[in-house]
Amino acid sequence: MGLLDRAGGQLTARAEDAEILVVNTCSFIDSAKQESVNAILEMAQHKRENGGKARRLIVAGCLVERYRDEIQRNIPEVDAVVGTGELEAILEAAGLTVVDAPAEEKSPFNILVSRAASAVHQHSHPSEVGTQLEIAQSSRAEGDLRERQGRFSRAQWKGATAALPEYLYSDETPRIRTTPRSSAYIKIAEGCDHPCSFCIIPQLRGKFRSRRLESIVAEAERLIAQGVREITLIGQDTTCYGEDLGLRINGEPAGLATLLDAVAVLPGLKWLRFLYAYPNKVTTRLLETIARHETIAKYLDVPLQHASPSVLKRMKRGGTAEVFLRLIEKARAIVPRIVLRSTFIVGFPGETDADFNELCEFVAAAKIDWLGVFCYSDEEGAAAFGLDAALKVPKRTIEARRRRLMKLQQKISARAKAAWVGREVDVLVEGESDETELLWQGRTALHAPEIDGKVLINDFGPHEALVPGTFYRAEITESHEYDVVARIIE
Ligand code: SF4
Repeated sequence: MGLLDRAGGQLTARAEDAEILVVNTCSFIDSAKQESVNAILEMAQHKRENGGKARRLIVAGCLVERYRDEIQRNIPEVDAVVGTGELEAILEAAGLTVVDAPAEEKSPFNILVSRAASAVHQHSHPSEVGTQLEIAQSSRAEGDLRERQGRFSRAQWKGATAALPEYLYSDETPRIRTTPRSSAYIKIAEGCDHPCSFCIIPQLRGKFRSRRLESIVAEAERLIAQGVREITLIGQDTTCYGEDLGLRINGEPAGLATLLDAVAVLPGLKWLRFLYAYPNKVTTRLLETIARHETIAKYLDVPLQHASPSVLKRMKRGGTAEVFLRLIEKARAIVPRIVLRSTFIVGFPGETDADFNELCEFVAAAKIDWLGVFCYSDEEGAAAFGLDAALKVPKRTIEARRRRLMKLQQKISARAKAAWVGREVDVLVEGESDETELLWQGRTALHAPEIDGKVLINDFGPHEALVPGTFYRAEITESHEYDVVARIIE
């Protein structure tokens, strides 16, 4: 959007007003693909029937990485496709060119080749006095190994190009935010090197690569200057951040902790968080960093996916219920009252009743604050797709297991939320409740945007009205299964 805007395009969210339609797509699992295809078909129909106003239809994003040729072949209304690694092509696809970029302005694209040069700059951001920040200039060994093993191969995908995206945006890339005034996401890394056998994200998004630390800090500063108070750092695996840049402290990978140290102290920032953590990358240093800064939300989203060692092994993730419980215990010891979020997959091929029961026992013991359960989706191109058909769990069983686990979690969540009653918290007010005009809603630092429960506000306290995007002090007065109710006190 930033590129289109800078090139003179006028943005509208209303398809009926648009001359150029852009559908940004997802291709992670079947249901996401279906949703993307439906949106393209809807826009194709709109283009055909809208009296000629919509001249061009562009499809962008991960569906293009997966089915590049097929999209245009099967949907003739599509004029151009733009994959995740070629964002600049959106301008040509839209028939626009950059009009106002000064000649000396750097390319908005920070492609991998500039890595070695950029790593040197990191030296100016050592954030821990008394420790040695080492800078190496190599990619992640794990990623290189997986590449040799074929992890990123798209050979089985008809209609996809072999080339992986290498794109990374930078603070120089024009950007238009669509999040509320006070909140912003910053993507700190792209791609993933992990071998999880149910997941095709590495083939879609490419090898793991980190943005330069100074670029992320510059972007955060700019966002704060624009009024942003809550920053969420994101990536497929934020806990690998900086490993490819060689960001280490005393020999240990410390990229994310270093980045958090640098961003957490920026004046004007109120809440900082990161999504998502890979379990064996949650180090003591990282937890201590979360504990040390007032601005860092005491919140950790660590997708665990399962608890049965045999399922985790087939998922190619490793770990056991015991290992995960120890990790949770450690997180709670180092960061008192830390709120944990996790996600699990049920119905992975070969998951037996005993495996599922082990997962339930783990969930009951771990008492994770926010928990999501996903039904296994068999994705062509993922290693698990090729597992013996006899191992595949029937859809009805998968759905029944999902319901059972969510029911169990409901009770755990209700009990945990009851313990919040009486607490005084800072609430970022978002606006009127989605469900009723009678209430307003907001979030605490312990709720990530868009995903966790809500704080429902039924009493404005000393205020006539509340201003969305503003922080207020509130007292939690009631709790439900996932949401809590609060009254404003300041
Ligand atoms: S870590 Fe996440 S993105 Fe990477 S392969 Fe595993 S599930 Fe996919």
